[in-house]
Amino acid sequence: MTAHARLSPSGCDRWSTCTASVALIDKLRGDGEIVDRDASEWSAEGTVAHEVREMCLAFGLDPQSFVGATISADGFTYVVDDEMAGHLQPGIDWVREHTSNPHVEIKVDLTPWLPDQFGTCDTGWLSIDIIELDTLYISDLKYGAGVSVDAIGNKQLRLYGLGMWHFLGRPRVERIVLNIDQPRAGGMKYWDITLDELLAFGEEMKAVYAKIVAGDVEFKPSHKACRWCEVRQAPGGCAPRDRWLMEMAADACPTFKLPGYEGQNLVGARRWLVVQNASDIRARLAELHEESLLAALNGKPDPGSKAVEGDLGDRRFKDTKKAEALLTAALGDKAYKPRELIGIGEIERLVKPGRKKAGHPDTWADLQKILDRPPGKPKLVPEDHQRPALVRWEDDFDDLDP
Ligand code: SF4
Repeated sequence: MTAHARLSPSGCDRWSTCTASVALIDKLRGDGEIVDRDASEWSAEGTVAHEVREMCLAFGLDPQSFVGATISADGFTYVVDDEMAGHLQPGIDWVREHTSNPHVEIKVDLTPWLPDQFGTCDTGWLSIDIIELDTLYISDLKYGAGVSVDAIGNKQLRLYGLGMWHFLGRPRVERIVLNIDQPRAGGMKYWDITLDELLAFGEEMKAVYAKIVAGDVEFKPSHKACRWCEVRQAPGGCAPRDRWLMEMAADACPTFKLPGYEGQNLVGARRWLVVQNASDIRARLAELHEESLLAALNGKPDPGSKAVEGDLGDRRFKDTKKAEALLTAALGDKAYKPRELIGIGEIERLVKPGRKKAGHPDTWADLQKILDRPPGKPKLVPEDHQRPALVRWEDDFDDLDP
């Protein structure tokens, strides 16, 4: 492995389990089969949010000071608005409850555990307690709204914790508080661990590193490992992952025979694994469908297939203004759908007062009195999820005759 292997904290879920991915990515990059992905508008928005948060924490400002400011990132231009300021404020307030002098956007050296590797830690600080031992805090902003990131069990945070502890001179600390600040997906999330637990994780990472360097590696697909893996994007995708997904698909659909695969009974842990990965299986099948269609359209259909013209699409008016005039003349108000209230998110944006936005304070206060949220439906999650387990015992005696 080169000294520049990408054992980055953000990729830890991948390389620490699917250890064979490291050399494969290096090879595919060398062969030009993997190229850096262009930044998207959404990733640029996240970069801007990080910049605003960094400046607030470094210079004692509030995000509202940046509302209206134009910031460029990754080739995109973004105007900071009330919504972003509102999202960033609670996390900044929480940091300030504990320290007035956090280390912000610090490049932390992971060499003691992963030689030549580094990471950039959003925020970290040591909280000195005269009576008790000190606490090390790590806070990481995730501005994405699509995928909720847990703090509990988070390897990226633990690597930042190790790096920050090393950066601060390896102080004696009682506890380490790891925080994910994800304002648009779950809010503030925390995980408390001891220094011993953090250092034990560091030893695990050392062992992983040793195996990668020695070439003692394996492909180990999983949702977390594969989610952002570049091998998936390379031509042909990732064969070990495809095999893993298709074996689960074969278990779920016994008429689907996979050569060389005997199948497993869908009970217990196997059933949970298939349920947990159902969306990945569906997504991969959809990708394959698109690839197969494209091949056919390009004149190289997969044997046994061909592309044909699809069914006609939904009817629509070529001239909507003319259609509206004709319909209102004939039907009056009945030409229109019933009016509908805007959604709660839009109401919040337009009605809730902000520091630089008058809004409608009385209306907003009255709306709070009638705002309700129905309880959520039971859902399946991994057993280490922070919410307590929900069990609805069935009354076995209900069905018995008196
Ligand atoms: S896609 Fe998954 S299985 Fe394949 S190399 Fe990447 S992490 Fe490993």
